[in-house]
Amino acid sequence: MTQRPFNFSAGPAALPEEVLHQVAAEMLDWQGSGMSVMEMSHRGREFISIYEAAEADLRELLQVPSNFRILFMQGGGLAENAIVPLNLSRGGKVDVVVTGSWSKKSAAEARRYADVAIAADGASSRYCDIPAPGSWQLRPDAAYVHVCSNETIDGTEFHELPDLKSLGSEAPLVIDCSSHQLSRPIDWSRVGLAFGGAQKNVGPSGLTLVFVREDLLGQALPICPSAFNYQTVAEAQSMFNTPPTFGIYVAGLVFKWLKKFEYAGKQGLAAIEQRNIDKAALLYAALDGTDFYENRVAAHCRSRMNIPFYLRDESLNEAFLAGARERGLLQLKGHKSVGGMRASIYNAMPLEGVQALVTYLKDFEKRHG
Ligand SMILES: *Cc1c(COP(=O)(O)O)cnc(C)c1O
Repeated sequence: MTQRPFNFSAGPAALPEEVLHQVAAEMLDWQGSGMSVMEMSHRGREFISIYEAAEADLRELLQVPSNFRILFMQGGGLAENAIVPLNLSRGGKVDVVVTGSWSKKSAAEARRYADVAIAADGASSRYCDIPAPGSWQLRPDAAYVHVCSNETIDGTEFHELPDLKSLGSEAPLVIDCSSHQLSRPIDWSRVGLAFGGAQKNVGPSGLTLVFVREDLLGQALPICPSAFNYQTVAEAQSMFNTPPTFGIYVAGLVFKWLKKFEYAGKQGLAAIEQRNIDKAALLYAALDGTDFYENRVAAHCRSRMNIPFYLRDESLNEAFLAGARERGLLQLKGHKSVGGMRASIYNAMPLEGVQALVTYLKDFEKRHG
């Protein structure tokens, strides 16, 4: 088997090769059923077994407490920007911490349903730093506080979730963890609701994971669509309407891959987290070790998943990308809103992929520096 290229896409992003092989092998006949998973009733025993295993494995991997419900929804992260206020705002106040492009979008969408205030805004650092939680302006009667725990475009990450109680707020914390979910554990004691589109680090697009604390169910606004009412979805085990069955199946295989994953003497989520730490450290060290490239994010909040960087001489951008493609290093172009380059190194990216990128960075600098 020839080696596939290393794919640095920000999303939809690379999946573990083993998972893709299993999906291919089972495409026409899932485990002797005579059906593809795409052709099965979501209420039949075959799919129910897929669903139940996926939910149990996900709960185990992330140590999700029993007072949280896991919902398998559709609509992606952007739909959740509306679905969360429809369910949790009670038409009242919502505080949003703006740390980059995605949280800015969340604030704008929530404004359609709630009284939104920006608790802090990292604009003055050009979103290269996360404002310290102690400086946030939190309203005592906010229905919830929204943060994006990993800003996919700007390349910042909360390495510790804010403890709202210690900041004097009783409001539940909502996190958009689309681009780093399952890359590290989540401190559930600090979270009321977490959501994320699957296509960055979990599976195919079309599936959205929602983790919601039970006491937050049952508060949806009357205008909330039934299919997006968390309580309705939770009561129906995510089958109020047809769930994204194929996405749940592929995500379930990714969960099994993660549970077995071994690295540096560890297993499961601890192992993948350690590999993510090592991959990110390798790439940041290479970028920091030269003036030819530059990452602008403050060291304490650099993302392990999305690493934007710039060539000091931007006239070399096209040559850089073409040379990368020739070496099998794909989709390194930065987001159009910020330019430059971006390496997304999600769970499925092996250490060898980052090593190959680092070697290319050095070779390109030698040729053009
Ligand atoms: C990609 C992304 C989204 C948007 O997700 P869609 O599935 O395209 O709606 C939202 N938030 C974050 C942090 C993302 O990375």
